[in-house]
Amino acid sequence: MKKILLITLLFSSTLFAKLNVATTYNYLAKITEAIGGDKVKVTCLANPKLDPHFVTPKPSLIGKLRREDLLIINGGQLEIGWLPPLLKSANNAKINVGQPGFLDVSGVIEMMDKPHIVSRAYGGVHPDGNPHFALDIYSVIPIAKLITLKLSIIDGANSATYRANLKVFEEKIEKLTQTLKTQMQSCPNRKVVQYHELFNYTIKSYNIESKGTIEPLPGITPSSKHTMKLINIMKTEGIKTILQDAYHEHKTAGFIADKTGAKVSIVPHDVGSIDGTDTLEDFYTMVAKRLCP
Ligand SMILES: [Zn+2]
Repeated sequence: MKKILLITLLFSSTLFAKLNVATTYNYLAKITEAIGGDKVKVTCLANPKLDPHFVTPKPSLIGKLRREDLLIINGGQLEIGWLPPLLKSANNAKINVGQPGFLDVSGVIEMMDKPHIVSRAYGGVHPDGNPHFALDIYSVIPIAKLITLKLSIIDGANSATYRANLKVFEEKIEKLTQTLKTQMQSCPNRKVVQYHELFNYTIKSYNIESKGTIEPLPGITPSSKHTMKLINIMKTEGIKTILQDAYHEHKTAGFIADKTGAKVSIVPHDVGSIDGTDTLEDFYTMVAKRLCP
């Protein structure tokens, strides 16, 4: 009798076990939760308040990666500085690059700012082009479709649920996209500068132009020569908006604002990176609002 009970328990725990999914960033966790619903247990590796290029490889992250059935990454080399050693230490064959339990979502994105020559002299952090497509609401549905496909492949028994969840999610995101598009059409400032090239995808979608970055090159600390050049550009072009992320130093942006009369706007780079951005909807609404302060 005990044996039968044990077998029943084991069988039901396998049958109703959730799929363990890790995502590198929080926006991917939120999309995966929306598609996976109660069939998945999602863990996010990076703290959304910190620099996404350099996540501290804490031992607790290795422990998390050991348990996962699926790993979903942004790709475009955004994780290159921190994820490979974690994956090596976790030694979980299921989620290694190229395995069924691994998904790189950059495959469905047309990458911007691809360098003509890959060299350290062109900045250190974006060797494959700009990986910050997460800030653009237009990236969400292609990524959600890819995640739906992956979940359906590795957990075929629940594929109808995943597809039904995608339909609801798509409707919600499409509605918000239209609202934000209309809202952004009336934004009077069509030219901005930014600290790091975090906002290129989203400003392009809203027909706003970036006229320069406070960093001379991606990942390179501002220099006074470059800062003075940027101030001149802003004065000549009448640029009144500086887009600043939450995790880089704000001093240089403040100095430039003083010299040009421009406003510094703190724009979130991920879900949960600043207050009031804890859901995907709140995040994209805040991004649009802060692009046009
Ligand atoms: Zn970057």
